[in-house]
Amino acid sequence: MSPSTLLQLRDVGKAFAETVALEPTSLSIEEGSFVAIVGPSGCGKSTLFNVIAGLTAPDSGEVRLSGQVVTGATGHVGYMLQKDLLVPWRTVQDNITMAARLTRRVTDDDRREARRVAEQYGLGEFLRHYPSALSGGMRQRVAFMRTLVTHQSLLLLDEPFGALDAQTRLEMQQWLLQVWKETGRTVLFITHDVDESIFLSDRILVMSPRPGRVIADLENPLERPRDLDSLTDPKFIELKSRVMHLLHGGAA
Ligand code: ADP
Repeated sequence: MSPSTLLQLRDVGKAFAETVALEPTSLSIEEGSFVAIVGPSGCGKSTLFNVIAGLTAPDSGEVRLSGQVVTGATGHVGYMLQKDLLVPWRTVQDNITMAARLTRRVTDDDRREARRVAEQYGLGEFLRHYPSALSGGMRQRVAFMRTLVTHQSLLLLDEPFGALDAQTRLEMQQWLLQVWKETGRTVLFITHDVDESIFLSDRILVMSPRPGRVIADLENPLERPRDLDSLTDPKFIELKSRVMHLLHGGAA
């Protein structure tokens, strides 16, 4: 394991009765990197995340974070889903401090931090608003900020922009890249959208249909910072072609 490895999975496998959700899988994720995971529905992506988060116990294998075995233990990652799970009767500020609310008393420091991240990342004016007053993209920003203030170095994002329209989605991708750059977190990002996986990531893990396994681990050669022109860069098109062939059964 290299000194900068944050997450390491060794032969992690999981079946639900007769259904093999995840074949024994090994991978390493470097600290500070952005790694996308693409694969068809039902190939075990969420199972993989649940095992990393300690919400699902694997049948085999081991999960290590910063070298420590954390298999089956919770509370060491930030986790965000497509459904924002905001609490409708709490304001934006109170939703951001929700993790603190669930585990201990919310302090003035928690509120100050919620205000700071909201102001820094474009939601400062909405701190006292309720989720129903926000657009889909804004709700996802709040959900992401709630994940951010848990101070976990590893963030698991499971199709966070999957329900947004194309225009909002692109804005959110650019926003996420800015936050990622400024906060130095390590991100694992599940998506169905090949363009999204390339636009965001340093590396792409492609999974096979069930029983899920990682069939390719591709470096993304696209330079940063990324902008609209990245989407038509020849390197983008070439990588997209490789990923599409892998997903649809052809050779890489
Ligand atoms: P993905 O996130 O790639 O769509 P999942 O990890 O959700 O895939 O699911 C992988 C497979 O495992 C699917 O066939 C799914 O039906 C099955 N599965 C997932 N969770 C459970 C569960 N708690 N009980 C039974 N089967 C499950």
